[in-house]
Amino acid sequence: MVILEANKITKVYGEASGEGATTALRGVSLSMNKGDFIAIMGPSGSGKTTLLNVLSGIDRPTSGEVMLAGHFISEMSGDDLALYRRRQLGFVFQEFNLLDSLTVKENIMLPMVLEHKSAGAMEEKVQKLARLFDIEDILHKYPYHISGGQQQRTAVSRALVNEPSILFADEPTGNLDSKSAAAIMECFEKIVRDLSTTILLVTHDVFAASYCQKVVFIKDGLIHSHIVKKGTRKEF
Ligand code: ADP
Ligand code: ADP
Repeated sequence: MVILEANKITKVYGEASGEGATTALRGVSLSMNKGDFIAIMGPSGSGKTTLLNVLSGIDRPTSGEVMLAGHFISEMSGDDLALYRRRQLGFVFQEFNLLDSLTVKENIMLPMVLEHKSAGAMEEKVQKLARLFDIEDILHKYPYHISGGQQQRTAVSRALVNEPSILFADEPTGNLDSKSAAAIMECFEKIVRDLSTTILLVTHDVFAASYCQKVVFIKDGLIHSHIVKKGTRKEF
């Protein structure tokens, strides 16, 4: 089942014909099926974050269309798009973006609270994700009392509570030591395998990309090449 289809996306920052305009994307097409786990890699300034933002409706393309889970998001109004993002998409960033005044559990619950889910349903969901991501013992703690790795696993849990059609992750391991980065990538592997989650990741980190099924290389706003991994990842 196709979850994401992007067709000839361009993105120009600033007035297209004006001085100082930057062309960040020059006609990028990309397709993802349910359960795909893809990394976008490329040098700094190649357009990775712009692509992720356009594909996830954070930003609009200058031309081209994006279809996400059956909806042409490039044609939605701002309000519809905001609601759609909240209900259908999950986001994880380099900064963990947890709310310091809420516990780990409350942070994870927040997207469900906004959707008026029942207390029982929320509790069940939190426990399931906490087990999966090994944060059961810290649910009562505040973000500043847990490690960076634990904070990111909390952020991933929060991103998944409303069962998004796709999880977008922009440099999710960028602020983590290698051990915590490995733990996050193993979590991603696990949810792709066990929950058929679809994940699109932007990363500088070859080690993180090695967990993905496919790596797409972008350079100067164009997809340059991709590699598809055969078989499972092998640790040495
Ligand atoms: P990457 O994520 O690969 O580092 P970006 O998508 O952030 O690349 O940037 C691609 C190009 O677009 C760069 O030349 C960058 O300077 C430019 N750019 C990114 N965001 C903006 C913006 N908001 N306004 C103007 N130019 C931008
Ligand atoms: P992880 O299991 O996420 O990789 P670490 O190995 O970084 O976590 O940390 C192990 C333990 O050390 C954590 O359970 C946490 O309680 C504690 N810890 C690590 N870093 C911090 C920190 N910056 N603030 C508070 N506690 C920390």
